[in-house]
Amino acid sequence: MIKINENYFKLQASYLFSEIAARVNAFQKENPGKKIIRLGIGDVTLALPKVCIDAFHKAVDEMADDNTFKGYGPEQGYLFLREKISDYDYKTRGVSISPDEIFVSDGAKCDTGNIQEIFSTDTKIAIPDPVYPVYLDTNVMAGRTGEYKNGRYENIIYLQGTKENGFVPDLPDTDVDLIYLCFPNNPTGVVATFDLLNNWVDYARKNKSVILYDAAYEAFIQDDALPRTIYEIEGAKEVAIEFRSYSKTAGFTGTRCAYTVVPKECRAYDSSEKKHLLHGLWNRRQCTKFNGVSYPVQKAAEAVYSDKGLVQVKKLIDYYMKNAALIRKEMTSLGYECVGGLNSPYIWIDSKMDSWDFFNLLLNKAGVVCTPGSGFGACGDGYIRISAFNSYENVKKAVNLIKKTLK
Ligand code: PLP
Repeated sequence: MIKINENYFKLQASYLFSEIAARVNAFQKENPGKKIIRLGIGDVTLALPKVCIDAFHKAVDEMADDNTFKGYGPEQGYLFLREKISDYDYKTRGVSISPDEIFVSDGAKCDTGNIQEIFSTDTKIAIPDPVYPVYLDTNVMAGRTGEYKNGRYENIIYLQGTKENGFVPDLPDTDVDLIYLCFPNNPTGVVATFDLLNNWVDYARKNKSVILYDAAYEAFIQDDALPRTIYEIEGAKEVAIEFRSYSKTAGFTGTRCAYTVVPKECRAYDSSEKKHLLHGLWNRRQCTKFNGVSYPVQKAAEAVYSDKGLVQVKKLIDYYMKNAALIRKEMTSLGYECVGGLNSPYIWIDSKMDSWDFFNLLLNKAGVVCTPGSGFGACGDGYIRISAFNSYENVKKAVNLIKKTLK
């Protein structure tokens, strides 16, 4: 008899964004003429930069000619893109990451979800709360958690982000093997300092752990004194895997391109405590289960690093950061405590009431969609996330509607 993976039963029924969509649809059905402004799901709204589109078109034309047509590409990504990543994303920060330590992929979501496969099923995992839900759910599916009780899964060490610690979780007081970190953070928008990352890298080295460092929002960091990559920390290459994405950086959410860095010295241990390098394992996994990102998409991503591309991408980021500044300023002036929005497109707001009640209030009275913090974990209760991804005009309208509702 074929049996299903019963771990799936442990997953919480409603994925946050489907629940939001259901509530918005119900509201629209009841109020057919009413306009809604979405500052909820973290999807970008501006088109791809012109240089990316030009490179994309040109590469599609190459696919139309037998002489330049490309079939299967390297599973790890084309060298032309990996070299640019190595030079522009790392060398410019004084970090040496060689192109063959970079694995181009179709998304940081897939990679942060898939990476857990290369670790033992009895791995002790530390996950922040609040958190981007993918880290947790993929470990539930893999059977690394117990049951879900009182808002928490058994066998997970939750790293609590609270007002008291500025939503930057403290180091665990127990030994953990695998640590998920995300900076700039989704959902709170807080960023990591050098000191913080130094502490985590020290911890991982002492405890023989691995850090999974999700830097999908790195491009939004405005303060040049902050680390842009975990590899700016000495010793990090031995203990950290980093995830980056063109989704938010350059508008690739629908185009799909990202990458994961597994340094050659990054290690884990077998049951006899013998050391193994993770690079080969991830390479094996990718070669077995992944056939690479399409050539035109990688050409579009490569264009991000051209002179024009760097300017056009900065313009996109600046646009969203202007939205973030407006949201943060207006919510603060209404008397709501905010974090984030300075080096990230997310503003995390103390809603002073239950998250879903505040969500309903903004939806029903202002016609504005935010994201209830409780959907990101128990510590998110009493908070909402507002995202800067929309047009400036819509953000201006939204904050005015919110002001009218909350004054
Ligand atoms: N990591 C974080 C923290 C995110 O918020 C998101 C998307 O919202 C992703 C990863 C997914 O990125 P991608 O579009 O590359 O799959």
